[in-house]
Amino acid sequence: MSKMIHRNLRHTPPTAVCAFGMYLRDSKGNTYLDASGGAAVSSLGHGHPDVLAAMGAQMKTTAYAHSGFFTTDVAEELAQRLATDAPGDLNNVYLVSGGSEAVESALKMARQYFVENGEHERRIFIARQQSYHGNTLGALALGGNEARRRQFEPLLMDVARVSPCHEYRYRPAGQEVAEYTAGLLAELEQAILEVGPHSIIGFCAEPVVGATLGAVPPTPGYFKGVRALCDKYGILFIADEVMCGMGRTGTLYAIEQDGVVPDLVALGKGLAAGYQPIGAVLARDHVVERLRGGSGVFQHGHTYNAHPVAAAAALAVQKIIKRDCLLGAATVRGTTLRRMLRDAFGTHPHVGDIRGRGLLVGLELVQDRETKRPFDPDLKLFAAVKEQAMDCGLMVYPMGGTADGRRGDHILLAPPFIATEADLAQIVNRLSDALGRALAAIRP
Ligand code: PLP
Repeated sequence: MSKMIHRNLRHTPPTAVCAFGMYLRDSKGNTYLDASGGAAVSSLGHGHPDVLAAMGAQMKTTAYAHSGFFTTDVAEELAQRLATDAPGDLNNVYLVSGGSEAVESALKMARQYFVENGEHERRIFIARQQSYHGNTLGALALGGNEARRRQFEPLLMDVARVSPCHEYRYRPAGQEVAEYTAGLLAELEQAILEVGPHSIIGFCAEPVVGATLGAVPPTPGYFKGVRALCDKYGILFIADEVMCGMGRTGTLYAIEQDGVVPDLVALGKGLAAGYQPIGAVLARDHVVERLRGGSGVFQHGHTYNAHPVAAAAALAVQKIIKRDCLLGAATVRGTTLRRMLRDAFGTHPHVGDIRGRGLLVGLELVQDRETKRPFDPDLKLFAAVKEQAMDCGLMVYPMGGTADGRRGDHILLAPPFIATEADLAQIVNRLSDALGRALAAIRP
């Protein structure tokens, strides 16, 4: 038994010994096609020489400089680049070490925004059911993933919750999409009024829901409506782009495709594509100007803020995405992957939905296609799919359904943007094998 604490305390996962392009290899010589980018992280694939060179060069000059004493050119250039490419006046960048830290930092910046204005009574965030925003206590409180929250519930702050925007599961048959969207917005407005607008700090959501629901894009106009409600009631809109951001959906920021500018955006994962741990918060001018004009200090901080080597990795990744036209590739490859999946599973009795945006792609598995009835969660189909996929040399990112049937098991695919058509075909083939074996394994 390994001395390391792994998530599964009874099982040590395979030991990765090398990673190159679309593949990882373990110590037993097995290779795995990375169809999930780890957890929607590795957008450039593994071992990209230009990223390694940029990190190496930065390590030789300044490997670490505490942000309480110094800034660095590389962190400034990264911030400049992220701000320039962001929509609207999201011109201000706070660099942290990962997605949960980014969400925590956004929550605290949002709270301070109101405190600087004397609005101390504002303490409630609104978020959505079945959402995930990270594992630290603030981010966990924001998230609506019951399984992850359960035992920590007494430690979590109050969060008001509304329904997710999830057509496949929740739009009643026969209801127009516009009517469904209007209903969700009415529910959000009702929640704002019930809590009281002056007690609310902000509303937080993933523009395209990743892990908890399996690549669920919003309905047209949903985020325009969210933005309008946040403006109407003077609350902040925080977009969690930790998974869907940094090109994964075909635009650098997923929310660009919805035509609105959030007040704060949290980034992580694809920012440095896994080459270094890094996250970021982007803030609009009005947010930072209030803090600057008030106390002049953001009451927050981490030892590894704006880490120079992490910033060098992220900067290199961002330059490569632009140089190699990888946003376009994510769009085109995403369309191809969904088409291939529809060809392979379009009539499969247990694949209820194939969806996504760009290279954030989801398949929802159901017991019954007609009624959309999920499999019994106790069967742990998602775990069987992961195990069988690993056996077939394929990494996918599956998630379990809920006992109350509000969501089925689903499989998230988020391959690197460098995937070729042949890689995508290989992903679909191996997934087909793995799914067949997993379904056979869970049947009594
Ligand atoms: N927000 C979203 C939408 C995520 O998907 C995740 C991680 O999966 C996080 C936040 C937390 O990021 P991290 O695991 O880097 O702390």
